[in-house]
Amino acid sequence: MNAEQVKAAIRNVPDFPIPGIQFKDITTALARHDCLTWMKDEIVKRYKDLGITQVVGIESRGFILAPAVAIEIGAGFVPIRKHNKLPAETVSVTYAKEYGDDTIQMHKDALLPDDVVLIHDDILATGGSMEAAINLVKKLGVKKIYVNCIIELEGLNGRKYLEGKAENVDCLFGIEVDE
Ligand code: AMP
Repeated sequence: MNAEQVKAAIRNVPDFPIPGIQFKDITTALARHDCLTWMKDEIVKRYKDLGITQVVGIESRGFILAPAVAIEIGAGFVPIRKHNKLPAETVSVTYAKEYGDDTIQMHKDALLPDDVVLIHDDILATGGSMEAAINLVKKLGVKKIYVNCIIELEGLNGRKYLEGKAENVDCLFGIEVDE
């Protein structure tokens, strides 16, 4: 199994959720044991020796691989959730999306100053959601933040946009935004 084979297993759905968007549907790759295992193993390989103590997953597709990776690299799992989903005291970040604002939240006591954090999501597009997640984690004052996504949508400059905001920004492979 390799990146090209996993990339080929990702389904493109035109005009979802709105006309003009080429939706990259990872469910077709997740449903294959060989692809699912490759994605998990590839992230583990890249992050197992960096002293990561918490893997933070972004709701909702960041919740799929983050806990599996956390178990293997000896870290915990922390969810970033949409507004008003978490039961205890939270910290929040509000950011501008294409259609209106969005707020994401994390429990206030979810991370400690000594934590080394890996933030994971499925897709890096413009980088706006990931920037908000980085800012949310920074509110809790951790030691280091690494960033990983499965797919980089090439042509949207998300990686460049996030430059200098985390230790690294890393994706398993790129897909052309119109591919
Ligand atoms: P952005 O904030 O622009 O980097 O968008 C990243 C978020 O939007 C991620 O959580 C992705 O899952 C989702 N997303 C953006 N573009 C697409 C796309 N073409 N197909 C599927 N999900 C997308």
